[in-house]
Amino acid sequence: MKLLNRAFQELLSLVYPPICPICANAVDEGLLKHAICNACWNDIRIIGQNVCARCGKPLPSPETEKAWHDFKCQECRDRQRIPYDIMRSCFHYETSLAEIIKRAKFNNHPELFESLANDLAVYAGEKSFFKQCDLVAPVPISFLRYMRRGYNQSEILAARVASFLNIEYQRNLVKKKRNNRPQSLVVQEKRKKNVRNAFEVCLDVKGKRILLVDDIVTSGATVEECARIIKRDGASTVAVLTLARARTW
Ligand SMILES: [Zn+2]
Ligand SMILES: [Zn+2]
Repeated sequence: MKLLNRAFQELLSLVYPPICPICANAVDEGLLKHAICNACWNDIRIIGQNVCARCGKPLPSPETEKAWHDFKCQECRDRQRIPYDIMRSCFHYETSLAEIIKRAKFNNHPELFESLANDLAVYAGEKSFFKQCDLVAPVPISFLRYMRRGYNQSEILAARVASFLNIEYQRNLVKKKRNNRPQSLVVQEKRKKNVRNAFEVCLDVKGKRILLVDDIVTSGATVEECARIIKRDGASTVAVLTLARARTW
């Protein structure tokens, strides 16, 4: 069946040369698996070193002269309590990456996350605070959404990071206990309330260093709620790693 499918695809590509679903340019044959062109992959921007030490927000101007504790964004300086210890994101959530993620999520292409997971794992391997964690866990999605999508993208990312860093992976460390509205449909100010008490911790995390993995961070409300309950249950540290970060400033 696979062979037939491949032969059919090849025949089809003679009549209709494959085009990239993001930019509509022709796709190199070698990339047919993802069907996304090289230019679109290369368009993905890595978040550089110049970020807030706590939340990982890219800082607008270079602050290399300042001491490490000054490397914080205004929001983190002003806040009393931040539930996680550190958060970092690998890529800017923009242009082609935003399109690739949408395609992966809504057109059922989990293999795109597999590919991005490798980049995320390498990124995590460069940071000592991720390498020192005891457990890696994904941010869960609701059962309903899991059934509709067929997979949880954060699980793909977290499992890959765990195996690359050689850290124990716990798929069900955090569980969703109620269905909240998707954060993308809720205005910024109400996102915190929308996820309040939506999760529960299912394992003993006392004294453990937890690495929580998610696909995109926007307001941060979801990862903060997960970090809050993990910390409440006695984890010593919670580090958050996300594939992408949406611009919220
Ligand atoms: Zn393209
Ligand atoms: Zn910050």
